[in-house]
Amino acid sequence: MKLYSIKGGIKLKQNKFADANIINTLPVLDGELFYYPLSNSFCTNSIPVVSKGDVVKAGDLIAKASESGFSIDIHSSVDGIIEDITQIKHSKLITTEGIVIKASEQSGDYTKLTPAKDIESSVKNAGVLGMGGAGFPSYIKFCSSKSQVDTLIINASESEPYLTCDQSILINKADELIETILLIKKELDIKRVIVALEGNTTEQTDKFKQLAKDNSIDIAELPRKYPYSGEKQLIYVLLGRTVKKGEFPSSVKVMIQNISTIYSIYEAIKKSKPVIDRVVTISGDIPTHQNIIVKVGTTVRSLLEKLNLDPEQYNRIILGGLMTGTSIADLDTPLLKTVSAVLLLNDKVASHDEEACARCGRCIDSCVMRLSPTGINNSIVQGDIDQALKDDLMSCIECGCCSYVCISSRKLMESIQYAKNFLVKDHIASLEMEKASGGKK
Ligand code: SF4
Ligand code: SF4
Repeated sequence: MKLYSIKGGIKLKQNKFADANIINTLPVLDGELFYYPLSNSFCTNSIPVVSKGDVVKAGDLIAKASESGFSIDIHSSVDGIIEDITQIKHSKLITTEGIVIKASEQSGDYTKLTPAKDIESSVKNAGVLGMGGAGFPSYIKFCSSKSQVDTLIINASESEPYLTCDQSILINKADELIETILLIKKELDIKRVIVALEGNTTEQTDKFKQLAKDNSIDIAELPRKYPYSGEKQLIYVLLGRTVKKGEFPSSVKVMIQNISTIYSIYEAIKKSKPVIDRVVTISGDIPTHQNIIVKVGTTVRSLLEKLNLDPEQYNRIILGGLMTGTSIADLDTPLLKTVSAVLLLNDKVASHDEEACARCGRCIDSCVMRLSPTGINNSIVQGDIDQALKDDLMSCIECGCCSYVCISSRKLMESIQYAKNFLVKDHIASLEMEKASGGKK
């Protein structure tokens, strides 16, 4: 099919070492602690429905979506006891309020969801969110797409290095994925479905491709250029449609879902299973690479211990992809529904100090959103959030290309990410306070 090209982006080494054919399972230990933040960087806090000392089963609701803002239901991923409701570690928010569960002996079963009237309700009850990393609550996409979209795009392109977790789902769960895609297509009365795959896929994906063909689902093989798989970029590349600033894909008649999210939707609809585990790629500079089913809330410390990996041997640990993931400083940070990978790296780049900007312009050339990362970074460093907002800080998709290409090792995306998560909120709050006090500080 015809593809539209976009400016910016970069070519990356693939390093796809983890075998996508095999999915292992991480065991749960008696007495192990699991952590469930009540919020992610997208959602408002969910409200706990359990108290310290309560006994819970895997699949039990432990926090309910709040009525205001974007929020999701959270379920226990293990059988255990509520240890505490307190401040816990979070890869993006540093610390946030959350629920701690101490695992007991596992029954291996889970509490099933009450059958729902439609896919949107199933997705909401199961706490499904964008598993590609963005973490946007999926029911909102269903809600905003009713009778409005003509195309469903399934993003299975996984363009970041190391990641093969989506591919492992594509290879091992082809029937389930196609069944779910067709259910969504029918329920939302969608005319066309396109599945975006990374170019030069191996014959392992042939079964999925054949099933797709048999069911009139288009397959688009993307060029190996990052970040073609960003939501707005993908819609443009496949359809030539531009999602305007601040608008959702439904504004151009598109619903877009990640392939792992589709599998979670399958589990919600067909197995009445909430999102309590997911496939995670374990890779980087380690001897054994693999895809493994991990319970939501497992800490990095616990994961590494079970896999016999010594964190002291690596100079950084990233949760998520190499480009969009977050380096963590605390091993008690939990793996959440959005964490697609744990990468243990020994790269030299990580230890480089930032140097003065050489004004080479590479960061600007690489930016698919046509921003000036260096300009925005300067405003943030100078504390001028107003100017950073004028320079369109909020349009940054946090792809990481600017930091990657910077010859002065400037942490451009990291500073933008920090500003979006913390400084902009503080700035807006202080403007509101100023307004409420009639301009008096
Ligand atoms: S400014 Fe944002 S969108 Fe542009 S390259 Fe950097 S991280 Fe990507
Ligand atoms: S890539 Fe780095 S050195 Fe070059 S203009 Fe951007 S911030 Fe400056």
